[in-house]
Amino acid sequence: MRKRFSLVLIKPSHYDDDGYVIQWLRSAIPSNTLAVLYGLALDCKERRVLGDDVEIVISAFDECNTHIRPERIARQIGSGPGLVALVGVQSNQYPRAMDIARPLRAAGVQVCIGGFHVSGCLSMLPEVPAELKQAMDLGISLFAGEAEGRFEQVLRDAWQGTLKPLYNYMADLPSLDGVPMPILPATRIKRTGGKITTFDAGRGCPFQCSFCTIINVQGRKSRRRSADDVEQIIRRNLAQGINRFFITDDNFARNKD
Ligand code: SF4
Repeated sequence: MRKRFSLVLIKPSHYDDDGYVIQWLRSAIPSNTLAVLYGLALDCKERRVLGDDVEIVISAFDECNTHIRPERIARQIGSGPGLVALVGVQSNQYPRAMDIARPLRAAGVQVCIGGFHVSGCLSMLPEVPAELKQAMDLGISLFAGEAEGRFEQVLRDAWQGTLKPLYNYMADLPSLDGVPMPILPATRIKRTGGKITTFDAGRGCPFQCSFCTIINVQGRKSRRRSADDVEQIIRRNLAQGINRFFITDDNFARNKD
């Protein structure tokens, strides 16, 4: 019998001024980071990075269009090995991410948080801020940087129960050439208004605008997906009946060719 590893990817929403989680029946814009991480997770599953006898069971939720109940997720994972990855967490979403993470940790679930807040703080601040230290004190693992080529190490550590407090890849931003494609299952895409999916065409920007955080997090080297990779992303989505795309890029106009 194959063993099972539960991987739950969650893109948290954030609170409004009255303390309610902002959420819609159908959200307007899909999460690019969720698509990137789902694609990387699928690649890890297909390559059986945890061993031939281990099935990675992946779930992906965007809190902008889905109620997230930590106790239900803890039950879903059960007593077996698993990981909840709170992905693409921006600064205004960090308090909500922590409110999802705390009850999961109390239930003994392994949790990691990645995204712009963790990456930006580690990149731009002279020392690790209190809210990140607080997360690590709770046993939450932090991930700074981009996950291409690194996600399988996080999964292996989670499988072994040896997650590190901090994975910091800010000094080594990966190439996007030939990496696993961003993809979301059609069932998730149907929760966006107009059934729209997403992918990022490129990251990084060579310019130096003084107000820009992007260059401190995604770097000043232009990294982009090839035309062939973009074609494959579009074809794979068409195969699951999805033909509308929200395409992101740090700067669409930065490449001369
Ligand atoms: S991403 Fe935009 S704002 Fe940032 S450095 Fe490049 S051009 Fe300037």
